Amino acid sequence: MKVHILLGPPGSGKGTQAKRLVQKFKLNHLSTGDILRDAVSQGTEIGLKAKAIMASGKLVDDDTVNGLVFARLQQGFEGDVLFDGYPRTLQQAEALGEFLSTQQIGLGFVVNVAVPDGVLEARVVGRRVCSNNACGAIYHVESKPPKQDGICDLCGSPLKHRSDDTAEAFRSRMVEFNATFQPILGFYGRQTHFRSVDGNRPPEQVFEFLVQLFSENA
Ligand code: AMP
Repeated sequence: MKVHILLGPPGSGKGTQAKRLVQKFKLNHLSTGDILRDAVSQGTEIGLKAKAIMASGKLVDDDTVNGLVFARLQQGFEGDVLFDGYPRTLQQAEALGEFLSTQQIGLGFVVNVAVPDGVLEARVVGRRVCSNNACGAIYHVESKPPKQDGICDLCGSPLKHRSDDTAEAFRSRMVEFNATFQPILGFYGRQTHFRSVDGNRPPEQVFEFLVQLFSENA
C-alpha cells in the first residue's frame, strides 16, 4: 500500500479528479473534508467542534485532522490511498511523513493541481454537490449542470450548496490556503514523485494527464 496526494486550492477540481482516479485505478479515496462533514452530520464530538470552523472557511486544528487520518490508515486498506484535501499545513505534511515511515507505508505521487486565483471563486460559488455522501457527485450551475435542476444525475438525491461554498467563506479559505501552501510546496516540491498539472483546462484534459501519470508508474 502507498499513499498519493492531490494538492490544490479550493475549486481546483481536485475532488472531482480524485473521484475519477479512485474509480479508474481502484484507489481508496481519503478526503478529510468528507470525513469532517460526516462527523458534523453525525454530531460526533469532533463534528461539533469542527462545524463552525468549517463553515467560516478556517482550518480544523492539525492534531484533530492528523488523528482522524492516522486512525483510518491504521485500519488498513486494500490497495493504494489517494488523499484529497490532506495534508493542508506543513505540520500535517511533516506528521504524515513521520507516520508513514514508522508504519513503513510508501509515499506515491504528490500532484499539485494548479489553477489561477481569479477563476476559483466562480467555480466554488457555483458548485453543487450530491447530498448523498455515498455518491458525492459534484456539479456546477453553469459548467456542469445536472439534467434535472437540483437533482443528482447519478443517484437521484437532491443537490446541495455547501455552507462553505459562499463567496465570504471562499475568501477565508483562500487566506488559509495562501498562508499554508508555499511551505507545503517547499516540503513536497523536492520529492521525486512531485508533479504539477495545469488545472485551468477542461476537466477531461486534466484527467488524461493524471491517468497517464498513474498508468506509467502503476
Ligand atoms: P474540503 O472539502 O477539502 O474543501 O474541506 C472543507 C473544510 O474542511 C475546510 O475548509 C476545512 O475547514 C476542513 N478541512 C478539510 N481538510 C482539512 C485539513 N487537512 N486540515 C484542516 N482542515 C481541513
